[in-house]
Amino acid sequence: MTAPAHDFDADIIVVGAGPAGSCAAIAAAREGKSVILVERGPFPGSKNMYGGVVYPRILDELIPSWWETMPVQRWVVKRSTMLLSDTGALNVDFRANAWGAPPYNGATAYRPDFDNWLANHAVAAGARLVCSTTVTGLLRDSHGRIEGVSTDRPDGDLRAPIVIACDGVNSFLAKESGLYPHTDASNFTLGVKETLALPKHVIDERFGVRDNQGVDIEILGGTSGVNGGGFIYTNLDTVALGVVLKLPKLAAQQKRPEQIIAELKRHPAVAPLIEGAEVKEYSAHVIPEAGLEMMPTMVADGMLVAGDAAALCLAAGIWLEGVNFAMASGMYAGQAAAEAITKNDVSSRGLSGYTDRLEKTFVLRDHKKLRKVPHLVLSDRVQHKYPAFVAGVVERVFRVDNPHPKPGVRRIVREERKKAGIGLLDLLRDGWTGMRGFG
Ligand SMILES: Cc1cc2nc3c(=O)[nH]c(=O)nc-3n(C[C@H](O)[C@H](O)[C@H](O)COP(=O)(O)OP(=O)(O)OC[C@H]3O[C@@H](n4cnc5c(N)ncnc54)[C@H](O)[C@@H]3O)c2cc1C
Repeated sequence: MTAPAHDFDADIIVVGAGPAGSCAAIAAAREGKSVILVERGPFPGSKNMYGGVVYPRILDELIPSWWETMPVQRWVVKRSTMLLSDTGALNVDFRANAWGAPPYNGATAYRPDFDNWLANHAVAAGARLVCSTTVTGLLRDSHGRIEGVSTDRPDGDLRAPIVIACDGVNSFLAKESGLYPHTDASNFTLGVKETLALPKHVIDERFGVRDNQGVDIEILGGTSGVNGGGFIYTNLDTVALGVVLKLPKLAAQQKRPEQIIAELKRHPAVAPLIEGAEVKEYSAHVIPEAGLEMMPTMVADGMLVAGDAAALCLAAGIWLEGVNFAMASGMYAGQAAAEAITKNDVSSRGLSGYTDRLEKTFVLRDHKKLRKVPHLVLSDRVQHKYPAFVAGVVERVFRVDNPHPKPGVRRIVREERKKAGIGLLDLLRDGWTGMRGFG
């Protein structure tokens, strides 16, 4: 490990021991740099919440065969997208039993277990983990250069030539350093989740899985008229059920998030899955939802921003992924910071290896490709008109209305489109945006 300059406590300070921070710390410590990983909670993951599914392929680089030790609830073998109208539901299911065996695809996991496991890898790599410590600001030298952080501990200043901000969605470090131009509430959703206890065999039966197989259901519609979406994920003996709600739309109406969840739980397509379940936990957290449009500048002299702090969360209807983006961006930030220390250039130019890595990999490529999708998915038409339109079309295609003959699908589509109040041009435009985004 290289010795820090004599007036520094470490080469790199990482703020926040979530997935981004721990991966940053692992990557930098593996390069032989001295790293302090600061976490405000009593242990990593203690304060963190999310829906419940991790897609950890990116860990192949940092923790080969991660699946042998990762604390998993269930391996996801079934992915569904549920489109809910007021009373109907269209379900698109995909099942791959191969995802239930190495090298796996995704898993449900509890954050206190998962984050703690990841942070332990950072400690094993040589990082110093300091918990129960809240970073309160940036330290700057007489030239204004970042040189560490202040904390809420007495004499708690920590000095290092590089700070990596992995302090999550409300990153005040990124804001304080001026990397975020402004905060716009319409770029955020509120995620609210209930953890519902059910016996394991009941979950297995209702969701059509066995052993440690699990299910990931993303929901479009079912949010009581507030733009957003929902999810249902299976753990061993709990089910995570939640909604994500666009902030300005939530503020503009009367319902509280817990009422919206209660309505989703009563939906005829959802109620049988969770009947008799006991609410074990209720939690809420903000999600940076607008993708590329809301991202800050990622690099400043002596500072990098990763994970949710950099709005690197992909919320695009059929996907709700943030942990994999956090782990990847954290790892690239850690590698770039280590490189900059080795070159003895911690200016934004010396740290530009970070943005190079983000640009070349899925982290920014996915966001660039899907840049219009968050808007499309959260638009009023997709949210309020399309679920009823699609459910109406499918209902009539499958309804047997003898003695009437079957109407043609084209006629059904035309009639249902008009009933839902969707203009043909709007439908074509949205279809084109969707195809370009997802295609
Ligand atoms: C309802 C909901 C459902 C979601 N579902 C999924 C899902 O199923 N799959 C998925 O991949 N993603 C999901 N996400 C997104 C995912 O949770 C985030 O993208 C991911 O947690 C980002 O990781 P991070 O390390 O950047 O930030 P975080 O996980 O937020 O970690 C930040 C860490 O920094 C610490 N911290 C903050 N401020 C300070 C400070 N001042 N000093 C010291 N420490 C500090 C916090 O305690 C925390 O440990 C969901 C999010 C929500 C809200």
